[in-house]
Amino acid sequence: MKLVLATRNQGKVKELTDMLRLEATAEQQIEVISLESYPDAPEVIEDGKTYTENAAKKASVIAEYTSLLTLADDAGLEVDALNGAPGVNSKRWAGEDATDAIRIEKLLQRLEGVTDRRARFVAAIAVVQPDSAPETVLGVCEGHIRHAPIGESGFGYDPVFVPEGYDQTFAELGEEIKNQISHRAKALEQAIALL
Ligand code: IMP
Repeated sequence: MKLVLATRNQGKVKELTDMLRLEATAEQQIEVISLESYPDAPEVIEDGKTYTENAAKKASVIAEYTSLLTLADDAGLEVDALNGAPGVNSKRWAGEDATDAIRIEKLLQRLEGVTDRRARFVAAIAVVQPDSAPETVLGVCEGHIRHAPIGESGFGYDPVFVPEGYDQTFAELGEEIKNQISHRAKALEQAIALL
């Protein structure tokens, strides 16, 4: 089965490919194709109000363009003390061209002096067969935000996010553990059942 991953984020491509390899059964034999194989694929504007809306839009546009089964995800970090921000806007929160380091800096500044640091990552995954309606699932990983970044692995807010039940960040825990417990892993487990 051929499956297009509708993302240009190399961190996500790696995570999704590794997890698909782990979770798919032998008979599913998924051949993953990333958007690098489609340099002219349309840019999808993530203007939905929910992760699910954005994931469904990305998967639908790319499935139409490639005429192949397509999987897209949309994820974000929700911080209780910031009323759920950065949330669905996690990528653009610190400006269109911000780097991960700038996003983390803004987050830590906003949380200066805040003791309730509970947060969660949420991921929606949409799977679209060309000419069909998207099917969507949601995964959540609870945790808290550390006071300073630490660790080298992963991407995005990983160096400041400590998942519940652990005392290290996603960036310290490394991809093997992250890929078992993350929001994306939980959503992907359900998405594979749809494939
Ligand atoms: P996207 O819109 O799904 O690409 O994700 C929005 C932003 O959320 C990303 O740019 C990251 O900053 C953050 N994000 C999403 N998933 C993760 C993750 O697994 N680890 C760290 N940050 C993440």
